[in-house]
Amino acid sequence: MKKILNFINGEFVEPTSKEYLENVSPINGDIYSLIPDSDERDVQKALRAADKASLGWAETQASDRSQILLKMASIIDSKKDELAKAETIDNGKPIKLSKKVDIPRSSSNLKFFAEMISQFKGDHFPSEEHVFNYTVRKPLGVVACISPWNLPLYLLTWKIAPALITGNTVVAKPSEITPMTAFLLGEIANEAGLPKGVLNIIHGTGEKVGSPLVSDPLVKGVSFTGSTLTGRSIAEKAAPSFKKVSLEMGGKNPNIVFEDCDFEKAVNTTVRSSFENQGQICLCGSRIFVQRSIYQKFKEALKEKASKMVIGDPLSEKTDLGALVSKGHFDKVSSYIDLAKEEKGTVLFGGEKPNLDTSLKDGYYLKPTLIEGLDPFSRTNQEEIFGPIASITPFDSEEEVLKWANSTTYGLAGTIWTQDLKRAHRLANKVNSGILWVNCWMKRDLRTPFGGLKQSGVGKEGGLYALNFFTEEKNICVDFS
Ligand code: NAD
Repeated sequence: MKKILNFINGEFVEPTSKEYLENVSPINGDIYSLIPDSDERDVQKALRAADKASLGWAETQASDRSQILLKMASIIDSKKDELAKAETIDNGKPIKLSKKVDIPRSSSNLKFFAEMISQFKGDHFPSEEHVFNYTVRKPLGVVACISPWNLPLYLLTWKIAPALITGNTVVAKPSEITPMTAFLLGEIANEAGLPKGVLNIIHGTGEKVGSPLVSDPLVKGVSFTGSTLTGRSIAEKAAPSFKKVSLEMGGKNPNIVFEDCDFEKAVNTTVRSSFENQGQICLCGSRIFVQRSIYQKFKEALKEKASKMVIGDPLSEKTDLGALVSKGHFDKVSSYIDLAKEEKGTVLFGGEKPNLDTSLKDGYYLKPTLIEGLDPFSRTNQEEIFGPIASITPFDSEEEVLKWANSTTYGLAGTIWTQDLKRAHRLANKVNSGILWVNCWMKRDLRTPFGGLKQSGVGKEGGLYALNFFTEEKNICVDFS
């Protein structure tokens, strides 16, 4: 059985405990590899390696760091198919999504920051005569990058690229549920010539690896993506030593459809924004609000489109919907179907496991599910489900839908469908989400601020926002009289 190993100081090493966790493929429920069950001792080894490498890496020319990141990106491109397959087996997502989104985006994260660094600069302030102030930006030192399972390599590279390019050394902690592509990234870093200790990757649970990592005084910044619950615990642990934290957390995103929308485009995109990656994208629109005049027509069109989605073997190029990531997550997501029924919801379609080939019978598959009749303030409509389940609710006025859209503790993203430009701007300004899409979904420009409001996020990722996060600005005042 394949053994995943920790990556410390440029070498692949066993966990100190010599203990391993089982890595299950959601495609069929088979245990197909072993993951280090690392603990604080491994975290300490990684932190020491990162600390030792810190000064040397911070002093390299940014252009040299850039060359190494570009090399990593080109190796990812050359191994695209292998990485996509690894991601799909580990995560259960359709191979066409891994090939089209996850792996290309991992490479472009590295390329983007490698190129952007040449434009990154401090400020200057000519003050009184003979006095000049200027600022320089310095890396934080050793930083922790903690990533979730839904977009494993994509979100890991989204963090390590800005961290490394600004001269920090990294201890990364990928999700224990999807460790494979992070393991392969270690080989890629070595092949690209990343100096030893600059990137270290420790596998294991949040409790035994993530928690001691974020608590350690050597760590000067924590970049985290995951659930709001974990984000809160990280904020508490980071606070006593005043670490910088960037927290990208959960969501319960509204998708608001007005009667004057481009109907075809709104339906087609809503099918994607509700169910893509089995609904396991933090940006998915899980609460669909449709203006009453087109409600009936819209829900029927959604049903028709969703019924055409091919559910099945994630490794087949024909598959649109693969497996949910784990048994635990499948059970959690499924429990919301029962809850929705208790809350007087009606399942319009889905709500059960599909009938699939016997080779997939132990995998974690769920049909795309749409529920109507729920109170906008019900638990099903307020809590993050993070699966292929959306609710649909008719609305009568802009005021009403705005109140519902803003009613959750989350504020990550939102979508608005209307041809009325004034309404689009008005509402986009009033919906309390960090990211608003008007007449589109998931269009991303890596320069823009990415992050949630309320309990969805603290700080922003992307472009300059990420480069600023991973650096400290100092002001230098010179009197040259
Ligand atoms: P999670 O919070 O369970 O785990 C995320 C990571 O944190 C994992 O690596 C985990 O091992 C680690 N971790 C767990 N407990 C920890 C602790 N006490 N200290 C330090 N690290 C710890 O989240 P998940 O289930 O992997 O991911 C799904 C969640 O991620 C959803 O809530 C989803 O909305 C969110 N998400 C948010 C974004 C965003 O950009 N806002 C993007 C993707 C996913």
